[in-house]
Amino acid sequence: MLAMRILLIVLLASFVWHAQAQRPADEFPTAAGPVRITPIQHASLMIEAGGQVIHVDPVGEQNYRDLPGADLILITDIHGDHLDPKAIARLRKPGTQIFGPEAAKKTLPEITVIRNADKKTFGKWEIEAIPAYNIQRGPAPGRLYHEKGRGNGYVLTYGGKRFYISGDTEGIPEMKALRDIDVAFVCMNLPYTMPPEEAAEAIRAFKPKVVYPYHYRNSDLTVLEKALAGTGIEVRLRDWYR
Ligand code: ZN
Repeated sequence: MLAMRILLIVLLASFVWHAQAQRPADEFPTAAGPVRITPIQHASLMIEAGGQVIHVDPVGEQNYRDLPGADLILITDIHGDHLDPKAIARLRKPGTQIFGPEAAKKTLPEITVIRNADKKTFGKWEIEAIPAYNIQRGPAPGRLYHEKGRGNGYVLTYGGKRFYISGDTEGIPEMKALRDIDVAFVCMNLPYTMPPEEAAEAIRAFKPKVVYPYHYRNSDLTVLEKALAGTGIEVRLRDWYR
């Protein structure tokens, strides 16, 4: 009876471990080999290619217990849902590089600063910082949640494929002017960024092949899906809030 019980516990434990390890991920073929992207939570995602791991906005140490350390960490902004020193400490190993905006230096003095429109390379990756900011929404009249110049979105190019991660932004002209984006992660949520209809308008302007709404909290994603229906843009819904 005891043996049975132990066996059950072992089975259950391995099932739980397995369930955690097997997070749903998507793979994209490129000329330099596959790029694998795993949604983690809210604004956090993991990108794997060529044996290297990039963590974007890793937040919540507990989300990373079963995940590999980072070769590169990309930070978009300074708020707690993007910049979490504890999660970063967990993912760092000798040689880990961290790219982020100047404003993140207060919390993480060791980061390599990358400003809006700057380009950097990391292995086979080309990384370009794209502005991310509010045009109209802020905590009080005359103030914005995200001032222009403080935060970064990123366009990451690998093996000829271009991946866009919006960071916290409204549907800014710099997003609408993007071209040749294969895969886009576009934020939405009020009051901080934008509603799904505004996100859809921006997405229609730059026409990525595939778009993942992320950083959406309680936004109504059916609004986004409807607004993009018939455009040829594939909307991929994933559970970012498990
Ligand atoms: Zn945010």
